[in-house]
Amino acid sequence: MPHPLVVMKFGGSSVANADRIRRVARRIARARADGADLCIVVSAMGDTTDELLALAAAITEEPDPRELDVLLATGEHQSATLVSMALHALGVAAISLTGAQAGITTDGTYGRARIAGIDPARIRAEMAAGRVVIVAGFQGTSAAAMELAETTTLGRGGSDTTAVALAAALRADRCQIYTDVKGIYTADPRVVPDARQLPVIGYEEMLELAHQGAQVMQVRAVELGWVNNVVIEVLSSFEDAPGTLIREDPLVEQRNKVRGIAHDRNVAKVTLVAVPDRPGVARAVFAPLAEQGISVDMIVQNVGHGGATDMSFTVPRGELAKAKRVLEPIVRELGFREMTTDASIAKVSIIGAGLHNAPGYAARMFGALADAGVNIEMISTSEVRITCTIAEDQLEAAATALHAAFALAVPDQIDTGVTTPDPLAVPDQLDTGVADPLAVPDQLDTDVATPEPAG
Ligand code: ADP
Ligand code: ASP
Ligand code: MG
Repeated sequence: MPHPLVVMKFGGSSVANADRIRRVARRIARARADGADLCIVVSAMGDTTDELLALAAAITEEPDPRELDVLLATGEHQSATLVSMALHALGVAAISLTGAQAGITTDGTYGRARIAGIDPARIRAEMAAGRVVIVAGFQGTSAAAMELAETTTLGRGGSDTTAVALAAALRADRCQIYTDVKGIYTADPRVVPDARQLPVIGYEEMLELAHQGAQVMQVRAVELGWVNNVVIEVLSSFEDAPGTLIREDPLVEQRNKVRGIAHDRNVAKVTLVAVPDRPGVARAVFAPLAEQGISVDMIVQNVGHGGATDMSFTVPRGELAKAKRVLEPIVRELGFREMTTDASIAKVSIIGAGLHNAPGYAARMFGALADAGVNIEMISTSEVRITCTIAEDQLEAAATALHAAFALAVPDQIDTGVTTPDPLAVPDQLDTGVADPLAVPDQLDTDVATPEPAG
């Protein structure tokens, strides 16, 4: 039987300092000793990416996107080399590769490049030579040809996408995302104290959670996993405990229709007051924002009164200043009364694939927020979620109230028993795929416990 091929990704907090890097290396060494071929993906150490961004901002207000991407990519170069050295120190053959060396090409967009293709030849050759390959996450090159090659980064949280893309390209047996929580929870466990870990979550629901702010997985990583049918395991890099599987999850009738609560602080509201109520005005507002790459969300426009109407929408908080700059001349030209902005709002969402055919959920959500004394500013809905914007300082109260109102701390019947903390105590671990054989130090025969292939 060939060795299982496992992709393991370690996030920033997992490699935040030398001690943690050595701990990650020990975990990798264990998996290697169990016989797996390993492709490791690492994020930059701790807050390195934020620090590099701050450094660039201290030099200039608008750093050149090309130079910024080269700068940011170095964060992942650091951690990849250090993990490789830590493995050498344990006597494990290993080599670090940049995104370009790993064969990852992108569409060339600085700051939020999309992966265009992966040529895994180098990774496979290194593995065939017996080395653990450590790939710097969050980056790729715009072209394989040296004379055209530009370093590009994949957007915040992009190492998740590197990992899932490599798992698909390598047809890995497992794709593991190691992070600072035990898996995917019904809400951010740092915000809602009684959030419950889910044993399994479907791609659609995970995608929506990620879209609505749960930064535990990057949106595009979930998309890639879904499209390529990669089962993604999210698990703790600090303790040996079963994680959460992101995979195809058929909707089950008796399950709670709300799967989780997501929140997002990275929002700001723009309100245009007394906008002329005539054709073409919305285009005059939103076309220039789109041209500047500003993503607009939650647009609300009231019924006009006396030839004018108010219009509100949200933008990512970091893009508010730019949005104001773009809109100021338009407000003047088209004769709006004024533009107001509010950067101290947040979004809170209930998410569940079963919501679209479940009446009464919006009313229950609004009731729970009202009972918690939380004022709703804007509302938007889709088939799988209901989102409200609220004051940011009421976020904890709102998320906690919603978590209680929808009974998310109570395990679903079909979930019961699967989250048993001790993986060896789970009788049907091969069926559920939840137990993590690689996390169990003294497991001898990995072949027996290898769950279903990811590809
Ligand atoms: P990493 O550095 O490993 O990539 P991130 O900080 O990007 O880790 O993501 C992990 C964090 O995501 C957790 O610490 C947690 O606070 C947050 N989070 C938000 N929503 C959830 C959720 N539903 N389940 C688990 N974690 C969540
Ligand atoms: N280091 C990058 C970030 O902080 C990528 C990642 O961590 O996934 O966004
Ligand atoms: Mg992350």
